[in-house]
Amino acid sequence: MRRNADVVIVGGGIIGASIAYHLTKKGVRDILVLERDRLGSGSTGKNAGGIRLQFSSEINVKLSQRSLPHIERFADEIGTDPHFHQVGYLFPSPRIAMSTRSNARSRCGRASAFPRAR
Ligand SMILES: Cc1cc2nc3c(=O)[nH]c(=O)nc-3n(C[C@H](O)[C@H](O)[C@H](O)COP(=O)(O)OP(=O)(O)OC[C@H]3O[C@@H](n4cnc5c(N)ncnc54)[C@H](O)[C@@H]3O)c2cc1C
Repeated sequence: MRRNADVVIVGGGIIGASIAYHLTKKGVRDILVLERDRLGSGSTGKNAGGIRLQFSSEINVKLSQRSLPHIERFADEIGTDPHFHQVGYLFPSPRIAMSTRSNARSRCGRASAFPRAR
């Protein structure tokens, strides 16, 4: 195995893969992604594929907001159709929905980047 690189990324999930992809687009060529298992074997390979803009932390909301345009043009940019359908997002449990709304209000409501939860 190689022992050095300009950039070493630990973890071959979506975050590691995305960092490697975007660094490559910016011209970085010597990137090593270290994965202890298989690529996508962590949370990335288990997730349900839902895309939403409401989270309990501001950073996750902003990450999701920034991701959306990329996902919308994913097929053109990457060459693989992710079968992205924008049909809304439903939390079927009233308890979870209330908790999410309350978290969004208390933690994110003051941020100007997105509207206050109602
Ligand atoms: C059941 C489930 C459903 C989900 N559904 C959704 C959803 O619908 N929508 C959504 O947005 N999110 C969903 N998520 C969350 C989403 O999958 C995660 O937020 C995302 O995949 C995290 O990506 P990651 O790259 O940070 O982590 P991971 O995908 O876990 O990748 C981390 C990688 O690092 C490797 N690693 C760790 N330590 C080391 C080390 N020391 N050396 C080498 N490799 C290492 C691991 O093996 C792993 O492959 C879901 C998660 C789960 C579990």
